Amino acid sequence: MRIAFATAEMTPFAQVGGLGDVSRWLPATLAAAGDDVRAFLPRYDVMDLAGCDEVPVAGLESLDLGELGTASISELRGAGATVYLVSAPQWFERGGLYAPGADEHLRYAALCRALIAASDALGWMPDVLHANDWHTALLALHADAAGGDWPSIPVVLTIHNLAYQGWFSLDDLPVTGIDPAHPAIDSRESGGINSLRAGIRASDIITTVSPTYSREIVTPQRGEGLDDVLIDKGDALVGILNGIGTEWDPENDPHLPAPYGGDSLDQKSLSTTALRDRFGLTRRGGVPVLGVVSRMAAQKGFGMFRHTLPERLDARRVQLAVIGTGDPSLEAMFSEMATRFPADVGYHRGFDSGLAHLIEAGSDVFLMPSEFEPCGLNQMYSLRYGTVPLVHETGGLADTVVEWDRETGEGTGFLFDDYTAGGFAAALDRAVSAHRDTRSWRRLQRNGMAQDFSWEARAEEYRAVYRRAVAGA
Ligand code: ADP
Repeated sequence: MRIAFATAEMTPFAQVGGLGDVSRWLPATLAAAGDDVRAFLPRYDVMDLAGCDEVPVAGLESLDLGELGTASISELRGAGATVYLVSAPQWFERGGLYAPGADEHLRYAALCRALIAASDALGWMPDVLHANDWHTALLALHADAAGGDWPSIPVVLTIHNLAYQGWFSLDDLPVTGIDPAHPAIDSRESGGINSLRAGIRASDIITTVSPTYSREIVTPQRGEGLDDVLIDKGDALVGILNGIGTEWDPENDPHLPAPYGGDSLDQKSLSTTALRDRFGLTRRGGVPVLGVVSRMAAQKGFGMFRHTLPERLDARRVQLAVIGTGDPSLEAMFSEMATRFPADVGYHRGFDSGLAHLIEAGSDVFLMPSEFEPCGLNQMYSLRYGTVPLVHETGGLADTVVEWDRETGEGTGFLFDDYTAGGFAAALDRAVSAHRDTRSWRRLQRNGMAQDFSWEARAEEYRAVYRRAVAGA
């Protein structure tokens, strides 16, 4: 099948969150099985392209994007699928991936139009278009505006996070090339376009990144104001869990001091020591290290730490290793904790994949108390690394972690349903107390390590969605 995949992120070249992981591994896994996948990604000035083989694509040196200017395309080799980097300096050279500002929507309109213009120039017509999140949600409307065969190509839109919707002024529509009279732009959007709302209406099948989240977002509580259009999709709203990439493998991870697997879990403690040393934490035998790798956003639930962690740190019952950047008040909270408990809390404010791997491997318990979580990847990485996840029972977290039961020896982690500091603290205390029983803790770790989160199975589910979209088109 020929699939054109539009995305704002792709790990390791340009990533802020989970969209980057999916955009790397879904196309690569489909391509490995023989599909002709071409992913289109902006060529940001802040990309990590060290050691990459990038070649210009003949015939794509100057694509006409109408009022959005021109773009050129280069191909990034070695990423599994065909990856096209869309170069348009006026849009993508802003010193960061996202540059929230008045014209953010125009940047991704340029990406969508470049996808269509490049495919036309190559004489390559996809069987299906795959858009992702608000940035490229309007791909279906761009396809309709392009004319020719484009309006008949089915569109799958994946929602990685419903909270970001891409509002912009109706006045900007003519610049994008989209028809202001397009039926997907509904009358409720008076004065502004909600990219995700219009994209949901215009796309054939909507997927989101876990089955539970797909059921949550059709409610007013979790629908972020889009539950009405999501309900309208009926069974064309599908939840497909994310997989995890092959770079997350404790038996083969260059960021760890020593590899380990389910049969060599003793070696994991070398990563714990390396992690403590990296942050200058005291080596306290028997005290679990709690790990966090995350964007710092209110959604992630770290506000609850303020009322729960200090007393447990004071009592030397836990240590904490954190990496993340984002919301300044959360950054400040972790910085203050690291200053107050220098022997027990380490915080790195920034984005660093190597350190993220070391935290995944070196921690004993991984904390993801997210208020809502479309899928979440780090709990799956944690399971793979024998690091026991503690999660709020929501979205993809609820789909991937099963409460540990010492009696039966079943389960993979700790969950809390009651989204309060008290609910979180109770789960944390269960985890800390379970950690004391080394033998059963090993069982718990191995249960998690035995889970299969490979992309192959997920890619098959996406393939079924593509087939369904094509059949219905
Ligand atoms: P979200 O998409 O909401 O940010 P996910 O759990 O789906 O959350 O994906 C987060 C991804 O970003 C994971 O691969 C995680 O390891 C990575 N990540 C987040 N923050 C950092 C950071 N500061 N350094 C390295 N990797 C990070």
